[in-house]
Amino acid sequence: MEVLVCPRCPRVLFPGASCCPACGGVLRSETRTGAGRVVAATELTVPAAGWANPHRLVVVELEGGGRVLALSPGGLPGAGTSGRVERSPEGLAHFIG
Ligand SMILES: [Zn+2]
Repeated sequence: MEVLVCPRCPRVLFPGASCCPACGGVLRSETRTGAGRVVAATELTVPAAGWANPHRLVVVELEGGGRVLALSPGGLPGAGTSGRVERSPEGLAHFIG
């Protein structure tokens, strides 16, 4: 999984950003395995039209740094659950615990 790292501050972003939104630094590309652990999770019981119901979202701290918001199609994991973030064919981040 490719991430963009700011050399001037601790920001880690996903591709699409052209510069660091916090300090304007020029981002460099790094690779993460996608492995990480859940630091927060929630379940939307009234999601937007066309979304899965319930709609489960997790924040994952990636090994090597950076946090990503991901869908959790396999259930609602607890904080500390280890797993992997993968990109779906649609480009969405999915947490596989
Ligand atoms: Zn920065």
